Amino acid sequence: MRVLIGGGSGFVGRELTRLLRDKGHEVTVISRQPGPGRITWGELESRGLPPCDGAVNLAGENVLNPLRWWNESYKKDLFSSRIDTTKALSQAITASSSPPRSWVLVSGVACYKPSLTAEYTEDSDWTPFDLLSQLCKEWEAAAFLPESAAKTTKQVVIRAGAVLGQDGGAMKQMLLPFWLGLGGTLGSGRQPFPWIHVSDLAGIIARSLEPPVLSEATPPTPQVYNGVAPTITTNYEFTKELGRILRRPTIFPVPEFIMSVLLGSERAVILTQGQKVIPMKTLESGYQFKYPDLTSALKQIVGS
Ligand code: NDP
Repeated sequence: MRVLIGGGSGFVGRELTRLLRDKGHEVTVISRQPGPGRITWGELESRGLPPCDGAVNLAGENVLNPLRWWNESYKKDLFSSRIDTTKALSQAITASSSPPRSWVLVSGVACYKPSLTAEYTEDSDWTPFDLLSQLCKEWEAAAFLPESAAKTTKQVVIRAGAVLGQDGGAMKQMLLPFWLGLGGTLGSGRQPFPWIHVSDLAGIIARSLEPPVLSEATPPTPQVYNGVAPTITTNYEFTKELGRILRRPTIFPVPEFIMSVLLGSERAVILTQGQKVIPMKTLESGYQFKYPDLTSALKQIVGS
């Protein structure tokens, strides 16, 4: 299978590329930078979709980029880096004379309203309630294929929680303070912390790329999968487990207002609030998590 991955140079893309190549598939990355095994977004626009059996979009400015202050220009980049790239791919798929069989977008669980009690499956209704949920709405809408294209291309949206892995994502920023014994709960610590090991997210994407069985009866709407581990975890449980595995104290809670000052209140909610997200459809699809619980995931990431 030939797979085209927008933003495939990033944290999740590198893991997905490894997994697909190990299975004998060919990968081409779409990037802002030209290079071997890559095309640029400009080339996609000018030359159209290269031959591929599956397409994925993982491009997006990092929401927790520590080097960027929370301001209008950063918010604009968060939207355009996701929506423009997703639109570019969905339009190229629609215009292609030999479209891929599968088209996968990874979006986020920020579409679901944070709550200490509500549980969300892929079937849960949601409407935008803040900036990040509005981003999810526009991002997923940009991936939507018109009915003519949806007859030949299976559409999948995977809503990922915080992706945990060795060489990127949230862990990269968290490990140093935890190693130094400066780790602690964020906000109340009672908020749910939906997470997934990067290897499982790559596994769910790879599975979604597998040839679909499309029929006349297949609805022209995307199949949605929650990309989160099946174990619900709170920020307190995550903090204590990471401290236990690293053998470091975790006695320095960070109050919510400090997080809001540091990150901007609209993005601090990613860490100080959370959602109980259930991967119901993901489990029903038969996907077997390699790291279904936090202990096994963290041990793989930081060593036992
Ligand atoms: P990365 O932060 O590693 O970024 C992925 C790629 O996006 C980069 O390699 C880069 O490719 C491209 N990119 C970055 N900034 C821009 C920009 N301003 N304009 C266009 N392209 C840009 O992402 P992850 O691999 O961690 O995540 C993949 C996707 O999953 C993202 O869309 C992310 O929002 C989503 N997601 C991630 C979560 C996580 O915890 N990591 C949680 C939930 C969702 P290049 O430089 O080659 O152009």
